[in-house]
Amino acid sequence: MPATLRCSSRRESGSPDGRVLLGCPDNRLLARLDRTTFFGIDPLNSEACTWCGDHVGPDDGFRAYELVGGRRAVFCRLEHIIPWAIQGSHWGAAGVSESAGTETPPSRCSHCVAQLGEGHVLLVRHRGAHRIADGFCSVTHMRDWAKAGGRWR
Ligand SMILES: [Zn+2]
Ligand SMILES: [Zn+2]
Repeated sequence: MPATLRCSSRRESGSPDGRVLLGCPDNRLLARLDRTTFFGIDPLNSEACTWCGDHVGPDDGFRAYELVGGRRAVFCRLEHIIPWAIQGSHWGAAGVSESAGTETPPSRCSHCVAQLGEGHVLLVRHRGAHRIADGFCSVTHMRDWAKAGGRWR
């Protein structure tokens, strides 16, 4: 094992003025990462991707809403809707104050152009200050739309 990877051997080098140093460079890196994580993420606004658990910032990613059921899901990327839908779409509960954040909700399915009825699904892309909404008659059509590349097919 290379000596640089061993924290205990590093500590022996010490410091002549008696300060306690973190001898292991890996520990220092970890400490810095922890601090960035702590201050860089607002726990009230950041969320975990429903599918992969990755951090999704408030101005990033996708939010899916099932308005009738009051349920929602968060995705870091469009592609993660596909396995989530295939595995049975496990929604989370929406907060009481939760709103999709769109002023003009879509009236037709973005995939099959059918008029949206009760039980439709809303998908809102967060991109900076922008909220781009698409409606779907079902999770299946949201999945098929995502599979086809969404708006960028
Ligand atoms: Zn994800
Ligand atoms: Zn449809």
